[in-house]
Amino acid sequence: MDISVVIPLFNEEESLPELFSWIKRVMDENRFTYEVYFVNDGSTDHSWQVIEQLQTENPDVVHGIKFRRNYGKSPALFCGFARVQGDVVITMDADLQDSPDEIPELYRMITEDGYDLVSGYKMNRSKGDPLSKTIPTKLFNATARKVSGIHNLHDFNCGLKAYRREVVKNIEVYGEMHRYIPYLAKNAGFSKIGEKRVHHQKRKFGKSKFMGWNRFVNGYLDLLSLWFLDSFGLKPMHVFGFVGTLMFIIGFLAVIAVGATKLYYISNGIAHPLVTNSPYFYIALTTMILGTQLFVAGFLGELISRNAPERNNYHIEKEI
Ligand code: UDP
Ligand code: MG
Repeated sequence: MDISVVIPLFNEEESLPELFSWIKRVMDENRFTYEVYFVNDGSTDHSWQVIEQLQTENPDVVHGIKFRRNYGKSPALFCGFARVQGDVVITMDADLQDSPDEIPELYRMITEDGYDLVSGYKMNRSKGDPLSKTIPTKLFNATARKVSGIHNLHDFNCGLKAYRREVVKNIEVYGEMHRYIPYLAKNAGFSKIGEKRVHHQKRKFGKSKFMGWNRFVNGYLDLLSLWFLDSFGLKPMHVFGFVGTLMFIIGFLAVIAVGATKLYYISNGIAHPLVTNSPYFYIALTTMILGTQLFVAGFLGELISRNAPERNNYHIEKEI
């Protein structure tokens, strides 16, 4: 099979029929063999009925996964990725903001140019989205570029992306990590990451599910975690042990300072204050306690990373 399309969706009933017939048209015109996975992320509207209808009409092509509740876009992608069979996997949003007309070129970039992953780069974003989304997005992308070291991407979080199948089978998209899929791919060893400018339209039906500033706070925290996992995920003791040792050294030097001054005062017969009056005493106390704590945290980290629990465990109500 040439292409698998994975579409995560949450309350997008109005868009689905138009989106599917558009995808079908593009696939047929280009003679691609394909499948489409609609992952219904706990929609409360009639999205699932629409998917069932599409599946009845196109039983060989359409698949549906129905979550029992809303888990988020990343879990939806994860479950789609687990099932796809196409050589090239395309993800797109369900809201008709991403254009299926981009699929043939994305497919070509993976199969002929040899990219592992090609991310869309939304052109004319300012026309399609409000400033409150585009300005924080610029900031977000600049930081993501810096931290991930993927300098050629302008738009990490574009819903429209294409992957070589091995990529999606070897990354674990969880939590809200869909924003950093290129970084996940890079960490998994897929380094040929490209970009294609894509058309982007205003949302036709319904409203955005990602609004407000808290998505940026969460976004940055996720980026920090990824950086941490990338650098120390398999060796937590290296970071905790390092900082712990540093703390211990500082504490040790402070103890020497406290002890030495005390001795100096005593041996020279100078009237001396209590050690607790010295700032070094408190520095020694805090840093040595902190150092011990960090070591314990490091050991705990090692223990946990060796017995990592199953993170991607979602309740699926139905599959068609
Ligand atoms: N989505 C989802 N689960 C969620 C939120 C969103 O599957 O909890 C889907 C949504 O239906 C859409 C895609 O993720 O297909 C992108 O969401 P949206 O268009 O609201 O984001 P925006 O384009 O505004 O960034
Ligand atoms: Mg959208």
